[in-house]
Amino acid sequence: MKTPPIFTPRNQEDMADRPLQTEPNIKMDTIEKIVSLCKRRGFIFQGSEIYGGLANTWDYGPLGAELKRNIKDAWWRANIYQRQDIVGLDSAILMHPKVWEASGHLQNFADLSVDCKKCKKRWRQDQIRGKCPECGSNELTEARLFNLMFKTFQGPVEDNASLAYLRPETAQGIFVNFLNVVDVSRKKLPFGIAQVGKSFRNEITPGNFTFRTREFEQMEIEYFVRPEDADKSYEYWVNERYNWYLGLGMKKENLRLRPHAKDELAHYAKACSDIEYNFPFGWSELEGIANRGDFDLAQHSKFSGKELVFFDAAAKEKIVPYIIEPSGGVDRAALAFLVDAYYEEKVKDETRAVLRLSKELAPIKAAVLPLLKNRPEIVQMARAIYESLRSQFYCVYDDTAAIGKLYRRQDEIGTLFCLTVDVQSLEDKQVTVRDRDTMKQERISIERLKDYFTKELF
Ligand code: ATP
Repeated sequence: MKTPPIFTPRNQEDMADRPLQTEPNIKMDTIEKIVSLCKRRGFIFQGSEIYGGLANTWDYGPLGAELKRNIKDAWWRANIYQRQDIVGLDSAILMHPKVWEASGHLQNFADLSVDCKKCKKRWRQDQIRGKCPECGSNELTEARLFNLMFKTFQGPVEDNASLAYLRPETAQGIFVNFLNVVDVSRKKLPFGIAQVGKSFRNEITPGNFTFRTREFEQMEIEYFVRPEDADKSYEYWVNERYNWYLGLGMKKENLRLRPHAKDELAHYAKACSDIEYNFPFGWSELEGIANRGDFDLAQHSKFSGKELVFFDAAAKEKIVPYIIEPSGGVDRAALAFLVDAYYEEKVKDETRAVLRLSKELAPIKAAVLPLLKNRPEIVQMARAIYESLRSQFYCVYDDTAAIGKLYRRQDEIGTLFCLTVDVQSLEDKQVTVRDRDTMKQERISIERLKDYFTKELF
């Protein structure tokens, strides 16, 4: 959880437990398989690939874009549509420079970095153990604070007065809109504001595929509570967020909570826990949940001169709410869901790769496949089925290979159902519906398909 003031050395016990990102790991072949699948099937491509790539940037292809959308939609549904106490926001990436002064980011949003004197590589001090992971030299410079905010200029003049920063978190956009949202939404405490959007951090050592990048998406909730309710609300949100991942099919043994030790907390934070996933490169943070006290509203009140308080009309009292913040990353969630869903299994002496993504997350819900593409009646029937289903959910039509190959292709990208139209379909008006996970096939009448999928998918 990166909350300014940022650098607090991790305690030794914790360090010992956590594999460093630069160390080789026996499960790395899983990540290699995922990287290869992502490229081959169009989940994730290297950024700017035709120019040789820009290091540590990634572009989401057709299926990756769909997966990320599904993750964000599931989050939005769970936190906004299915509750009455949270509203959404979409604030600007560029904000007044004073925001970053008030938040402490200008001063404190930094990691300690060291440079290798021999090969000149720069590293985050807390990610190496005294020697350069590149060349092995232990001749390192003194640690220096390195601010992680990206700088830019607003307008045509590049001077200090036009200096602007790309936001390193979406949260500040929520804090500065606190009064606006209270005014228009008429919410009473406790209530929350949620947003999903891009954030930027000039990470010293990005890596592990999409796990740590300099541009990424966050899903953040700022939940405002009466100070006396903060501890309980914090516990509630830790559980709520942990269960969200389980509810979307993530395996329990791959998920754990790591409460922060006292010396890891920012000075104003009352408590903080990370939800960690057992990635092929070790247990690493997916999301952080923090009790931030009244720090954020108090700071912005001080710096803006506006009183950021909640007025309880019944009790005629002004309250500076405490904030509970669940803050997760879309890209890390996408990577974890991909890793978690990836299986290889033997089917009749052949290896089948299958992505067991949940029905909410699977990019494609069903594929309609004609068994014989040289029979126009079959193709026509398959196309008609595809046309009728696609208004209900995302499905595809594919006749570009033999059925065995089409099944393998759809399994590998996590498509939940394959519908095959064959000669018999022309007579009995039924199709074969094959389940991705069990590979069981059943005949379903075309008439019943919509009802069938309504039951299976929604
Ligand atoms: P880390 O310790 O891994 O750098 P953090 O504690 O700095 O993470 P937070 O400030 O808590 O991260 O940000 C909330 C969430 O945003 C993280 O849990 C993560 O999912 C996501 N996130 C943060 N930094 C990055 C990054 N560089 N690349 C991808 N996702 C990120």
